[in-house]
Amino acid sequence: MTRLILATRNTGKITELRAILAEAGLAHELVGADAYPDIPDVKETGVTFAENALLKAHALARATGLPAVADDSGLCVDVLGGAPGIFSARWAGRHGDDRANLELLLAQLSDIADEHRAAHFACAAALALPDGTERVVEGRLPGTLRRAPAGTGGFGYDPILQPDGETRTCAELTPDEKNAISHRGRAFRALAEVVHDLLG
Ligand code: IMP
Repeated sequence: MTRLILATRNTGKITELRAILAEAGLAHELVGADAYPDIPDVKETGVTFAENALLKAHALARATGLPAVADDSGLCVDVLGGAPGIFSARWAGRHGDDRANLELLLAQLSDIADEHRAAHFACAAALALPDGTERVVEGRLPGTLRRAPAGTGGFGYDPILQPDGETRTCAELTPDEKNAISHRGRAFRALAEVVHDLLG
């Protein structure tokens, strides 16, 4: 069985990707980067989600000699020209302060009318092989930004993004409902096909 390594120490992401790959009929063994504790973290110096996902996948493939999978994601707001984008995790300054990020964004958009509040979550998922072969695919979840957070599920900007065709925010969807339509679900389902084509 081919071993695939995923560039994350987040067990939730590993479980999610295992389920997606299994559903796609792939019999690869998926391990998290935790299995290789000596690998240094990679600086995300790219300026697009795809560049950052590829940087992480290549670094991991080089360090382990295994095919490696990585993702990078964020929220893109139309009226802000695609920001926060690659800065989504640290929009309010400190990395990973979800509440501060969301509140700053709502304040910045307070004068923006409902019809101009379109935004999408974007995810790039990359596969890199030890020989340097690379593939990257992207998935999106389009929607509209609410004026106040709603729901307790999910993370990040979930409480303020209402997917197109929905009356609830992402934070009010069940995990299965979100995975079925999410940017990450879409990107990883597309990546499963790429893995199948390249690795069988
Ligand atoms: P990362 O790709 O896991 O580093 O995510 C970057 C940032 O984008 C997160 O910290 C969140 O702020 C935002 N983000 C990415 N995906 C989602 C999502 O599914 N829901 C809400 N926020 C997200």
